[in-house]
Amino acid sequence: MLNQLYEKLESDWEEMIEIRRYLHQHPEVSFKEEKTAQYIVDFYRNLDIEVTVGVGGNGVVARIQGGKPGKTIALRADFDALPIQDEKEVPYRSKVEGVMHACGHDGHTATLLVLARAMNEIKAELPGSYVFIHQHAEEYAPGGAKPMVEAGCLEGVDAVFGTHLWASEPVGKIQYRTGPIMAAADRFEITIQGAGGHGAQPHKTKDSIVIASQLVGTLQQIVSRRVNPIEPAVVTIGSFTAENAFNVIADTAKLVGTVRTFSEETRDFIIGEMERIIKGACFSADCSYTFNYDKGYPAVVNHKEETEHLIGVAEGVKGVSEIEECEMQMGGEDFAYYLQEVPGTFFFTGAKPEGVDTPYPHHHPKFDFNEKAMLTAARVLASAAITYAG
Ligand code: MN
Repeated sequence: MLNQLYEKLESDWEEMIEIRRYLHQHPEVSFKEEKTAQYIVDFYRNLDIEVTVGVGGNGVVARIQGGKPGKTIALRADFDALPIQDEKEVPYRSKVEGVMHACGHDGHTATLLVLARAMNEIKAELPGSYVFIHQHAEEYAPGGAKPMVEAGCLEGVDAVFGTHLWASEPVGKIQYRTGPIMAAADRFEITIQGAGGHGAQPHKTKDSIVIASQLVGTLQQIVSRRVNPIEPAVVTIGSFTAENAFNVIADTAKLVGTVRTFSEETRDFIIGEMERIIKGACFSADCSYTFNYDKGYPAVVNHKEETEHLIGVAEGVKGVSEIEECEMQMGGEDFAYYLQEVPGTFFFTGAKPEGVDTPYPHHHPKFDFNEKAMLTAARVLASAAITYAG
C-alpha cells in the first residue's frame, strides 16, 4: 500500500510544484493569511474532505477517517510568509511587494495538501485516522500553534509529525534528533534613560550611548562567563538606536535583541543576570532604564519513541539516501507547542537547490529550495503516519 502511495505522489509531484508556485506568488504575512487559508479550505472542500476553518485564527484543519482501526495521527504544515522583498529572478517570484515565502512554508503547504488528497483516495485501506493541521503564523510570536492547540486541533490525536524543508542539506537527507532540536526564542528591549545635552558639555549630561555601549559588551559575558559552558545559549543584540545630531549627547538609547536557550532553568537564569547587569550599569552612571523581556516559543523537544519510529520508517522510503542525527539548532519553531501536548517528532528534509554549493539561507531575499524535497517530505510523513497508526 505504501509503495502504491509513493507512486501516486510521484505522479502528483508536478501539481505539488504548481501549488507551491502559486502560493509563492501570493504570499501573506503572519496573522494576515486569509487568502491562503481560503485556498487551503477550497482545496479540501472540492474533494469533499471534512475541514474546519478559523481554528485559533486563520488555522485550517482537515480530517480523514481510514477504513481500518488504528491510532489518530496529526501532520502539520505552516503557511505564513515573511515581510521580505523577493529578489529572485524566477518566473514564480512573489507578486506582493515586500512579502515573500522566504522560509519554504509554501512548500510545506503544497506537500501536505497533495499528500492529504493521495491518502484520501486510498482511505478505505488506511488504518486509523489523520488530522492535517494547516497552521498560520509560525514566523511571528505568539504564533499560530498555541491558539490552534487551545482550539482543539489535537483532540483525540495520539502522535504528531512535522517537517521543515531545509535548504542547507541535500535532497534525500533526513535529519532527526531525540530531545531538544530547536531553541526557545525570546525577544528583549532595553531602554537607557540618561540626560541629553550639548556635545561640548558632557559633564552636564548622562550619556545614554556610553552606558548602552557598556551593556553591549557586558551582556556578552553572561554566555561566556556565567552560563555553564556545556549548556547552549545565545544572547544577541540585533539593534542599537540612539538617533541624534553629531554634536548632541543622546538622552535615550535602545537595545533590542534575542535570547536562545534549551532549558527553562538557563532561560530564567539569563533573564535574572541581564536585569542585574543593566541595573548595575545604570546605577553606576546614575541613569534609569526599562527592561522588557518577552518569552517567545519554548524549545522544540522531540519524543524518543516517535523519533525512533521516524528513523525506522525513513530508511525504507523511496528517495531517502541519508538519515542523520543533526545538531541542536538555535532557531525557534512553534511546533514546540504540539509536542508539549502529544508525543511526536519534528525533523528536517534536505532541500538544497540544484547545482549550488552555498544556498541562500532561510529568510534571505533570494532564498529558494529544491522542489524535489517536497516529494521526499510527503513520502516520509506518509510512512511515519500510516505505520504509526497501524
Ligand atoms: Mn520556517
